[in-house]
Amino acid sequence: MGEVLDKVYDPHRIEDKWYRYWEDSGFFRAQADGAKPPYSIVIPPPNITGSLHMGHALNNTLQDILVRFHRMCGYDVLWMPGTDHAGIATQNVVERQLAEEGLDRHRLGREAFIARVWQWKAESGGRIISQLKRLGCSCDWSRERFTMDEGLSRAVREVFVRLYEEGLIYKGDYIINWCPRCQTALADLEVEHEVKDGYLYFIRYPLVGWEGALTVATTRPETLLGDTAVAVNPEDNRYQGYHGDSVRLPVLGRKIPIITDPHVNPEFGTGALKVTPAHDFHDFEIARRHGLPAIQVIDQSGRMTEQAGKFQGLDRFACREKILKELKNDGLLEKVERYQHSVGHCYRCRTIVEPLISKQWFVAVKTLAEPAIAAVQTGRIRLIPAMWEKSFFDWMTNIRDWCISRQIWWGHRIPAWTCPACQQIIVSREEPTVCPSCGSPDLVQETDVLDTWFSSALWPFSTLGWPEDTPELRLFYPTSVLVTAFDILFFWVARMMMMGLHLMKEVPFREVYIHALVRDPEGQKMSKSKGNIVDPLDLMDKYGTDAFRFSLAAFAAMGRDIRLSEERLAGYRNFANKVWNASRFALMNLGDYDPAQRDEQPLDVVEAWIMSRLQQVIQEVTGHLKNYAFDQAAHVLYQFIWHQFCDWYLELIKPQLAPGADPLRRHHSQRLLVDLLSNILRLLHPFMPFITEEIWHRLPGTTGSIMVAPYPTVNPSLLNPEAEAELTLVMDTIVAIRNMRAEMNVPLASQVDILVFSQDEQTLQILRRHTRSLVLLAKVQTVQFQPESGAPAAAAKAVILTPTGSSLELVMPLKGVIDFREEERRLNREMDKLSRDLAQTQRKLSNEDFLAKAPPEVVQKEQEKLLACTEKLNKLKSHQKRLRELVAGKE
Ligand SMILES: [Zn+2]
Ligand SMILES: [Zn+2]
Repeated sequence: MGEVLDKVYDPHRIEDKWYRYWEDSGFFRAQADGAKPPYSIVIPPPNITGSLHMGHALNNTLQDILVRFHRMCGYDVLWMPGTDHAGIATQNVVERQLAEEGLDRHRLGREAFIARVWQWKAESGGRIISQLKRLGCSCDWSRERFTMDEGLSRAVREVFVRLYEEGLIYKGDYIINWCPRCQTALADLEVEHEVKDGYLYFIRYPLVGWEGALTVATTRPETLLGDTAVAVNPEDNRYQGYHGDSVRLPVLGRKIPIITDPHVNPEFGTGALKVTPAHDFHDFEIARRHGLPAIQVIDQSGRMTEQAGKFQGLDRFACREKILKELKNDGLLEKVERYQHSVGHCYRCRTIVEPLISKQWFVAVKTLAEPAIAAVQTGRIRLIPAMWEKSFFDWMTNIRDWCISRQIWWGHRIPAWTCPACQQIIVSREEPTVCPSCGSPDLVQETDVLDTWFSSALWPFSTLGWPEDTPELRLFYPTSVLVTAFDILFFWVARMMMMGLHLMKEVPFREVYIHALVRDPEGQKMSKSKGNIVDPLDLMDKYGTDAFRFSLAAFAAMGRDIRLSEERLAGYRNFANKVWNASRFALMNLGDYDPAQRDEQPLDVVEAWIMSRLQQVIQEVTGHLKNYAFDQAAHVLYQFIWHQFCDWYLELIKPQLAPGADPLRRHHSQRLLVDLLSNILRLLHPFMPFITEEIWHRLPGTTGSIMVAPYPTVNPSLLNPEAEAELTLVMDTIVAIRNMRAEMNVPLASQVDILVFSQDEQTLQILRRHTRSLVLLAKVQTVQFQPESGAPAAAAKAVILTPTGSSLELVMPLKGVIDFREEERRLNREMDKLSRDLAQTQRKLSNEDFLAKAPPEVVQKEQEKLLACTEKLNKLKSHQKRLRELVAGKE
């Protein structure tokens, strides 16, 4: 205790040490005994394939601030950690590994492949967890879960069977997004739409029994092979005479009907729409309404099927070329226009998605969505900031059934079996041995696995032991808040709401805090292709984890995207250093401090001021954290610690701490300093856990870890507006004197005298009491207080308004302080040099050759230099003018 800190703060020397100490001491563990009020957060489980990126860093820093804050506020905190098996992503990683070995999963077989994935997980799947520890995350690692561990797999099966029994899961023909490369269905959300330059082909479909043709427009002529109708809008006057007629399908010659449907947009193309139910979502719906058949002409690998006749086996895009050629030869291609249209791509591999009809498993979400909508409407779940409610409601009211089957191997295999003998489908918690309908023992299990988001939708209760009725589930569900980015609001957050409300009959979380995205300094999204990705681990190496965390919190303004700038990171590293250095100074003055000795000294006004400020800071920081205003909490702490505690308080109390000071007062100052530091460290701990723990252990009178110390609370009896007004006056006066010195270029070594004029006797009295501080902090020799103004010639002057509304005049006589003639010469020298620089810059900027050849940033530098020189020159000129007036005795 009471040891002095190292001269220089080295974050890397302390971070690992304290993390191990916290973990070994069991401080991260939730008690779950009901002794304290519960506070719980489930981590958005990172993919096991993941590596910490800026989004994770922000998301988890904010969660850690919340859990550390609540732990210190006396809650039984559970921060539930874990990882997601990330179906397609993980399978892709292992498939790439196999490819390097000249293998593929089909040659390996399903079981061996899954064993390979588990092996990969054991070796590489824990990387992100160790990175979260590096960030300081205080998760309850003793409860770490994985979406494919035994308990969670059981929960998944239970939910699937229950929803199936309730008729909320069904298997059906449906048009789905299909990735021909990944060979799997994709949810709507997994398709990324991109506007592309393409063509609109106008194709003539000859009328049957009449002369002429109907012209349809399409971007995908190869799909005409699967057309089963042409549809027009019943209101469209151009086609009134054609209702009920037929056309002949080009190339194949099949006869297909002309139908009317109010959903046909008369504005698109010619207003006549070719209907391809098997390969277009919109057409699929029309076909359902009209009972039209669906003909699949493209298969799951993107090749033409038998139904495509002579085009069978061709790739879909090669087929397009052949069809166009044939249409041209037959004179059926009316025209081709350039056209921009939106094309769906697989979010994993960027292959163009093919809409296909297939047998898939679905969750009927309409009934599940209603309670979730109501929960947000009634405020049982609060979205913060509330601006996200609109998109939430839009999406939830237009929600389509959720396709949950995926044609991959890595994931929760769907617990459904088919009996080949009688076609019975059996959905069961346990593997069935015989068919309940015909008794056949030969059952075939569904090969598909569930969408990754199915298991993560259960995360808030499956991780707490559901379907068992565990004490954890009773205590920590609903969780207190979910902290997430908006990009998984629908993938994940909405689905957790639906599943939680349906299965637990209760919301999964009371609040959802939706934070911003981290962008580069220019505001662009970070991406591999732009090469602007910043690795959070590099930033932690460079600036220390505490400074990094504090920066993220300070950037996290509600609802605004974050522009990461290293300049600000460096600024917060300076802040960490400031905290370190101030603590070091304090500890050097606490070597002989005895915490056991009583202190009955009253607070003086400086102490009353800082204690009053501290109470307000506690109140503000606590309020901001409760409202998720992380940036404001960080700002309040930064301002108080740097600009009040360090800049003023520590300076003002130096005389009292000096070795020669009155022993009782000195002990009193020491006690207060310990108290202040203790409060500051505890306030700061959730943001900067490592440095605060290190200093805490050196602070006299502390025991144990800061992370289990109580968070400071407001003591209203210490609020003291009078002391604050008094110190504001003192600080304003000192700043005004310092400014005068700087303006008049008075060397630091020169002592000055100050005359203080005020008609307000009370103001004079206050400053009289603080003469010693003025002398010390403004480097003043003597201070004279006078009620009447009357300045000598050649004096600098400043006027300040006091907090009580009166005015105060400060006069600094300059005779003998500065050598006016020498100052004049110095000014001339400086102005000469500036003028030369200015002229040179102006020459450069008017040189067209320079402007044409120099890189833009060099030109910008010169422009900035021009501005800076001009500004400085103007300042010097006005200073010179002022100086000459002073010498002349004018005011
Ligand atoms: Zn794909
Ligand atoms: Zn059977």
